Amino acid sequence: MPIRLHDSLTRELRELRPSPDGVFRFYNCGPTVYAPAHIGNFRTFVVNDVIRRLLELEFGADKVRHVRNLTDVDDRTIGQSQKEKRPLAEITKTWTELFHADCAALNCLPPHVEPTATGHIREQVDMIECLMEKGNAYRAPDGSVYFKIASFPGYGALSRIKERELKVTTSAFDADHKDDLGDFALWKAHKPEEDGDVQWPGPSGAAAGRPGWHIECSAMIKKHLGETIDLHTGGVDLLFPHHENEIAQSQCCNGTIFARHWYHSEHLLVDGTTMSKSKGNYYTLGDLVAKGYSPMAVRLALLMGHPRKQLNFTLDSLHAAESALASLRAHRASLAAAGAAHDAFASVLAMLQDDLNTPGALGALFTIINRKEGEPDAASFDRVMFALGLDLHQPAAPKATVPTEITALAEKRWAAKQAKDFAAADGLRKELTAAGWAMLDGKDGYKLEPLKK
Ligand code: AMP
Ligand code: ZN
Repeated sequence: MPIRLHDSLTRELRELRPSPDGVFRFYNCGPTVYAPAHIGNFRTFVVNDVIRRLLELEFGADKVRHVRNLTDVDDRTIGQSQKEKRPLAEITKTWTELFHADCAALNCLPPHVEPTATGHIREQVDMIECLMEKGNAYRAPDGSVYFKIASFPGYGALSRIKERELKVTTSAFDADHKDDLGDFALWKAHKPEEDGDVQWPGPSGAAAGRPGWHIECSAMIKKHLGETIDLHTGGVDLLFPHHENEIAQSQCCNGTIFARHWYHSEHLLVDGTTMSKSKGNYYTLGDLVAKGYSPMAVRLALLMGHPRKQLNFTLDSLHAAESALASLRAHRASLAAAGAAHDAFASVLAMLQDDLNTPGALGALFTIINRKEGEPDAASFDRVMFALGLDLHQPAAPKATVPTEITALAEKRWAAKQAKDFAAADGLRKELTAAGWAMLDGKDGYKLEPLKK
């Protein structure tokens, strides 16, 4: 069964197909490494990891080429380096390392190439020069270079943004845009008070400075995947202006179609609003592991909602994911090593191949497991675990280490509560809170969780 996926450009479900040479070229916009990636970001990366896995199953692992960048120079990374008074490379290295560790814990396959913006200044400058030569870009009085959107009639096709709206929205959306025109920066002239020592020689005729954000993806895609790719993805917030601008840059410079399929997944919410680094309303994977949840449960919880719908994150969903994982482990243990040939879990894979219907796939999976009939089929089960990226060997929730004095307080409080000495129990709860621990009472016992700092 072919993989069908919603295409944001045509707004239709379309089959994913490799390039004529049989290779599938897949680009996913990566993280901006100036802060920890939060689990909202990881919703996007986990969803893209399922796409990567489905592509491998469909076309063969050696036919899939997956590139995901690291944005290590832009307004936000430079701003952070200025704020902390530490070199840019030091800041981005810290957060890149944590990102890699979190990706590994979440069982995301590493991309085949992970290019950095600072490692591709030459390629970006070349592309900007190409756009200037072709009349799609111009130098501003301060030596910056802007893309002239009026020179590209296709501008706005992806986001369907009308020109009138464009002038109003661009400045609010993105500082890389020049407000009055809607034109956006390809190259930003160096401003010592904002940029510190971050600068490179510019395109010919332009000032020294640094690339605008959008050009990095166009330049790195061209270098590592070629002029036309088969799938380009990211979170919905990237649709405009980032991806619109990537199309403009690449198609004007290369003169050919840029991406044959676009896919955008929806955001993870917390308390009804988007989880975001700038709002500060986020959980990192580390926060959740400190609370005693396993990374695999986080991965599963992120897949419980349809990727094209917003998903509200709750700790309850993590509890549900932990017990679902326990059922999956128990089921796997009950299967003989060799698989039967009837592909008992084919319907689960079919759900994933149908526009990445992860909740449908999980529903089908548990229906089959709970029915407890039919022939056991280890090979088919393992294929589905591979597609979902669920590593059942990862240890179940590492218990947050609870200091003995905290356990002692909790035991005393539980005993007081059982004895209906509520005044004493309340007093002990206050002591626990002051020590940074929450005691969650159940019917037959309690759970201790560290309070979020
Ligand atoms: P950034 O590090 O901000 O460049 O974002 C990395 C990826 O995470 C992009 O594809 C964003 O679209 C995506 N993203 C940002 N916030 C969220 C969220 N709350 N839920 C899901 N994806 C997000
Ligand atoms: Zn990008």
